[in-house]
Amino acid sequence: MPPSENKTTGFSHSRLEARHLLINYDEIALKGGNRRHFESRLLKNIRAAIKDLGGSHLQPRFGRFLLRLSSETPLDKVCERLSRIPGIAVYSPCISTSADLDSVRVAMDSIIDQLLARGEQPENFAVVSRRANKELPFTSTDANATIGAHVQERTGWKVRLKKPQLSLYLFFVNNDCFLALDRLPGLGGLPTGSTGRVACLLSGGIDSPVSSARIMRRGADALFIHFHSYPHTSIASQDKVRDLAERIIPPGRSARLYMVPFADTQNRIITECPSRLRVILYRRYMVRAAEAIARKEDAQALVTGDSLGQVASQTLENLHTIDSIATMPILRPLVGMHKAEIIEDARRMGSFDTSIEPHDDCCSFLMPPKPATRSTPEQLEAAESSLDTEKEVLELVEAASIETIRGRLD
Ligand code: ATP
Ligand code: MG
Repeated sequence: MPPSENKTTGFSHSRLEARHLLINYDEIALKGGNRRHFESRLLKNIRAAIKDLGGSHLQPRFGRFLLRLSSETPLDKVCERLSRIPGIAVYSPCISTSADLDSVRVAMDSIIDQLLARGEQPENFAVVSRRANKELPFTSTDANATIGAHVQERTGWKVRLKKPQLSLYLFFVNNDCFLALDRLPGLGGLPTGSTGRVACLLSGGIDSPVSSARIMRRGADALFIHFHSYPHTSIASQDKVRDLAERIIPPGRSARLYMVPFADTQNRIITECPSRLRVILYRRYMVRAAEAIARKEDAQALVTGDSLGQVASQTLENLHTIDSIATMPILRPLVGMHKAEIIEDARRMGSFDTSIEPHDDCCSFLMPPKPATRSTPEQLEAAESSLDTEKEVLELVEAASIETIRGRLD
């Protein structure tokens, strides 16, 4: 279950028997003319993510979404799914009543009853109101004061406006008021599928799952490409990549995974080219084959998990040598990140434990003792001169197997 934004309380939203959720979106709010496009994409993504959880109803309301759960829909599961959908800023499980202060008082009583029944006794609290509907006959300050006084009278809890232990939220939307105990953090960013399509090069390591997830949080739809060296690498290493893809793809969405057998190409590189340039040669072939797949799939860019200077193939010189054969942009979301930050991200998104399982990647297959940290496009062209690059790439793409991977639901 996602943590509450209100770290000081230690309370969990499961204390509230809510059947409504208010969902605030993130950067969509900045999109002006395109706003409808982003909104309808997020709406579709949320619907798809919770479809299997029973008949809930989702609709736009005053620059946010209102989700009404049917009686059998499990709130905790819905919250867990919402916490993994790009584009959501915060969401709040709520109970609803009409937007007049008498009704709000009655609804607040039921929340207090639930809290007291569970033995929750905060030292202090604050009522925090937000009005989407400015036509109401009272201001947010009026609502805070009136409902705050009522809560104090019923419970004896002290009011504290700055950093209260318990925040009681009132969201006034149209003619309704939604009462909530938490504002739970979403992933933020833009809804997946709203900014185009990319091809993510996915190894079994720590970095590429994080780079793929980051680019999907920028709204890109993704397909995945993995190069394996079976039989030199195990079948288990391919399962590991499937597992990682399932964790990266948001719930309710699916993506294609291309499994490209790379061993024959590697063998030719190993026998015919200088060993110092081996890894850069692998990378150039990966880029060429990935571009051919991307074009077939209408993707507009490649995505890798490179981080500047992390390994020999990621020096500026070698990145340049790799990029010199590219015809589409290669996006590197991690290029300026520290390894510790990447690991933190991997832990947060749940890919870390899978990534560190000890399965070989194709690039560790006959790793040269001294990989070059510097190279030039000319050196690489000379090294590739005895290989039929075009034919090799065609064969790689033809030999790829294609799978559909669905985002994990739990
Ligand atoms: P990672 O943890 O993502 O494997 P890394 O730090 O080990 O990254 P490299 O092995 O040099 O770095 O790989 C750099 C990038 O090249 C990877 O992040 C990934 O995008 C791509 N890549 C490497 N190996 C493969 C592979 N077998 N299949 C697909 N992409 C790969
Ligand atoms: Mg790697």
